[in-house]
Amino acid sequence: MTQETRAFQAEVQQVLNLVIHSLYSNKEIFLRELISNASDALDKLRFEAISAPELLAGDPELKIEIESDEKARTLTIRDNGVGMAFDEVVENIGTIARSGTRKFLESLSGDARKDAQLIGQFGVGFYSAFIVADKVMLTTRRAGGAASEGVVWESDGKGEYRVDRTEHAPRGTEIVLYLKEEESEFTAGWRLRSLINKFSEHIAFPIRMKGQHSGEEEKTAEFETVNQASALWVRPKSEIKDEDYQSFYKHLTHGDGEALAYTHNKVEGSQSYVTLLYVPAKAPFDLFGAQRDERHGLKLYVKRVFIMDAAEQLLPSYLRFIRGVVDSDDLPLNVSRELLQDHKLTQQIRSAVIKRTLDMLEKLAQDDTEKYAAFYGEYGQVLKEGLTEDFANRERIAKLLRFASTSTEGATPTVSLSDYLARVRPNQTAIYYITAESHLAARHSPHLEQFAGKGVEVLLASDRIDEWALSYVHEFDGKPFVSVAKGDVDLSTIEDLPGATRPAVAELPDGLADRIKGALGERVKSVRGSSRLRDSAAVLVVDKHELSLHTQRLLKQAGQGAGSGAPNLELNPTHPLTARLQGEADADRFADLATLVYEQAVLSEGGQLEDPSGFVRRLNQLMFG
Ligand code: ADP
Repeated sequence: MTQETRAFQAEVQQVLNLVIHSLYSNKEIFLRELISNASDALDKLRFEAISAPELLAGDPELKIEIESDEKARTLTIRDNGVGMAFDEVVENIGTIARSGTRKFLESLSGDARKDAQLIGQFGVGFYSAFIVADKVMLTTRRAGGAASEGVVWESDGKGEYRVDRTEHAPRGTEIVLYLKEEESEFTAGWRLRSLINKFSEHIAFPIRMKGQHSGEEEKTAEFETVNQASALWVRPKSEIKDEDYQSFYKHLTHGDGEALAYTHNKVEGSQSYVTLLYVPAKAPFDLFGAQRDERHGLKLYVKRVFIMDAAEQLLPSYLRFIRGVVDSDDLPLNVSRELLQDHKLTQQIRSAVIKRTLDMLEKLAQDDTEKYAAFYGEYGQVLKEGLTEDFANRERIAKLLRFASTSTEGATPTVSLSDYLARVRPNQTAIYYITAESHLAARHSPHLEQFAGKGVEVLLASDRIDEWALSYVHEFDGKPFVSVAKGDVDLSTIEDLPGATRPAVAELPDGLADRIKGALGERVKSVRGSSRLRDSAAVLVVDKHELSLHTQRLLKQAGQGAGSGAPNLELNPTHPLTARLQGEADADRFADLATLVYEQAVLSEGGQLEDPSGFVRRLNQLMFG
């Protein structure tokens, strides 16, 4: 025999300590975690047995058993699932196999309360056993392996574990918890039953315990099933309570967080399938990661048999935060990833998943503004990707968007396009928006001056994705989307608000535009009078089909400075600076002044000056010269 003692990977020990300390107040979740793992192991075996039925030989009824011994203070959780081979034990239980774990560790704040929430979301898994046990012993054998290929793993959770081989292990995994002295309550049958009832009622496999007798009888009592042992999603909706959905969600996600919303639908007819979809209250760490973790997504079942994690096939990228279950009666049980990709049913189910998700979000937006705001805070940016990806549903996605706006205070996006349309001014023909690097840059942009004067609302968009995403929304409810910072914006048919400063005619004095253009050279494409401005002296405007200046900057930072033309400089004809320019005869002083006006426009638009110290010199000269 090859008994070996090995050290936990440093990160494992770190996770382990965190689990033990931060989850102590919620310690009973260890049972849910271990039962979830057992249920996953049974799912895996059932799937493997489709093509290799001999794996079930001799022990065909898949089940979970829970047994306790008051005197020895032990609790045993046993499954006859897929089990683990020697290397798998070392890999799964002793190291950080999951790509998310490292990210999780990096995102820890050191604040115990926040971190406890994080770990709940992340899923605490096997290590939660050490919350209540001071020693854990795991015996396992991989389905298909010989009885002599068993593995025993044992640890007190303090830095080291021992692994050994064993000759006589049954198929599956048995975990024995040697409970801490103060945790002896977890040997009581009634306590265990009530926990199973709370956490694991809807595990699709039977969870079996010995009858509730005491003393001698206990030893001889028969195992009986203590849960419903039927998949939650196949039961009629009318029989399922909110807490059932939430507890199933926790099982599904191996986490402790709640779902913000869910939707459960059964389709019967030429095709039959069930979808149960959840929106997690908190976004996962890898929402914007390059690689999607398949396990954070949809589980595909065929006739109640778990087949695979199939988020990529069944969910578009912009709904990648959705978690849940799809169970089809019509896909073949032996469906492979490749087959699924091409199967005609896949498209149909995928469309249904999208439709149900959008239905759910619309309902949430309608019924519960607060929850919808929470949803939007977590996933708004991802949802916007849908505008660029899902042509068929663009209108529905647009309805779900929320914006900050000149008609509301603060940076929180609360205004929907329907809200906007309800407030349009007489003769207003377009939906106006501005994109900028930050909320304040958008809110204080000189581009908004004429809109303020006319009482026309402007949507303030400052997410990185906004300009790109909004360029896909050409119109909403018959009104075109127009960026206020591009091309010509004609508001002349809309009346001024009473008391607004009127802009003068947009004409500059004769010859001034040419002189300024001469002084600025290639930095601007043209110089012209502006009808956009009321208070500011100057503003930069790009042509209608150009990218906005801030997006040009973003691209440049990313090393993709594709050749956009220079912007146009528009001047406020009624501003004193314009008169000052007009009156300046000295060529050098004129050039300095023109440059200053241009630099103002760059700054107020959120840009960086090419020659900051030159700017300071020019400014000082103007002030003191
Ligand atoms: P998670 O279940 O979230 O992956 P765990 O720490 O709970 O994290 O488990 C790590 C891995 O150990 C699992 O992914 C699985 O491969 C394996 N494992 C845990 N429990 C069992 C079990 N009862 N049977 C077979 N494999 C298991």
